[in-house]
Amino acid sequence: MSRALYPGTFDPMHNGHVDIAQRAASIFDEVIIGVYDAPPKKLLFNTDERVALVRTALGHLKNCSIVSFEGLTVECARTVDAQVIVRGLRNVADFEFESQIGLANRQMAPNIELCCLLSSTTYIYLSSTIVKEVAGLDGDISAWVHPTIAQAVQKRFAENSASAAAAGNNRKSVTKTRGKLTHRG
Ligand code: ADP
Repeated sequence: MSRALYPGTFDPMHNGHVDIAQRAASIFDEVIIGVYDAPPKKLLFNTDERVALVRTALGHLKNCSIVSFEGLTVECARTVDAQVIVRGLRNVADFEFESQIGLANRQMAPNIELCCLLSSTTYIYLSSTIVKEVAGLDGDISAWVHPTIAQAVQKRFAENSASAAAAGNNRKSVTKTRGKLTHRG
């Protein structure tokens, strides 16, 4: 039986992620979505929330399950007994990043293969950061995420604005830094 791990931050899961998960689910017998517990990024949703939103977005995929993890991706792959790590590629920057991390992962875990799926052209520009930036500026994100996720994102921004206003700071901001050998690759 083939089993693949699709790891990521998924803050939140968007339709580009769903497309990769669906295509992986048609290639492998089982796909496990690994929601990274503590990425070096400022997050909109905590781990349990991100897991719940992934479950909402992928409920239609019967051979998909979800775990959260911290530490090395290859350790998570070993723990869930996945032979393959799946990642999505949108552009050259993704390729450069994934090839570096993928080679480091191969050094650590030679039996675990990397499978990069090219983004569908419909979603090539899409990222969780774009979703959050647009939602944070009251833009419409309904074409990019599951309706329940759109509601959750809008609600979280409303809550954040209310607490920022209460604290005397009405600025909405999203910051991001990139992870390395932990959850990427
Ligand atoms: P990470 O912090 O691991 O990059 P993300 O949640 O941003 O986590 O992305 C998880 C995976 O999904 C990565 O392999 C990323 O390249 C891929 N991905 C993100 N957006 C898209 C997209 N629009 N199309 C295809 N793959 C994507």
